[in-house]
Amino acid sequence: MAVKKKDKGQLIVLSGPSGVGKSTVIAELMGQRSNLYFSVSYTTRKPRVGEQNGVNYNFVDRTEFERMIADDELLEYAEYVDNYYGTSLKAIRERLEAGVDVLLDIEVQGAAKVRARCPEALLIFIIPPSFEELSRRLHGRNTDSEDVIAGRLEKARLEFREIPNYDYLVINDKVSNAVEEIEAILTAAECQVENRRDILSQFI
Ligand code: ADP
Ligand code: 5GP
Repeated sequence: MAVKKKDKGQLIVLSGPSGVGKSTVIAELMGQRSNLYFSVSYTTRKPRVGEQNGVNYNFVDRTEFERMIADDELLEYAEYVDNYYGTSLKAIRERLEAGVDVLLDIEVQGAAKVRARCPEALLIFIIPPSFEELSRRLHGRNTDSEDVIAGRLEKARLEFREIPNYDYLVINDKVSNAVEEIEAILTAAECQVENRRDILSQFI
């Protein structure tokens, strides 16, 4: 029997400090899992080497971003290390209504806004195996100046304090382990009685 597509997709938030490996883990996860859409955020940050407009982010200027805020086009947004970042409401609403799961890579203030607006969202926080390893990864990525890295590490310490507000904690020691843990969380969510109402209706 073909499995019926869900009536509504699951909204999944992934947060973690810059440099922990979110993009790396997400790229791997997207390659493995079908019915999952990665929400491409809007940002005023400049593209890093190798980043593509419309793929990694939609890169816009501050005027355009502030217009989007004024026109209520964003599910959430935040300022992070002097730049705006935000999620387009329209893009994700369409997918969720079509039964597609939607993954957001957003920082902690945005995650708190999603929790308030969409209490059914799954919130996952991803940590490095140690703080020293986070610093090594930020340096190894070779995309940010020493000042920016220092700002991101300082920010990381504040972000870790928000972990108790999340549902799940994933450790990115090895990318494959982190992906496996996220897969397990998503599979468990799919098995919740709540998400299996279509099948259940045959039995009760
Ligand atoms: P984020 O999206 O969280 O800012 P990135 O995915 O850009 O982080 O990863 C930061 C750096 O760490 C990159 O150079 C990436 O190749 C590396 N990295 C990611 N995950 C791991 C891992 N599990 N072990 C070692 N290096 C990693
Ligand atoms: P980076 O500049 O390293 O790509 O991202 C910086 C931070 O912004 C990361 O913690 C990332 O999760 C977060 N971020 C990316 N897109 C969004 C978004 O749409 N909204 C919010 N609130 N944060 C975002």
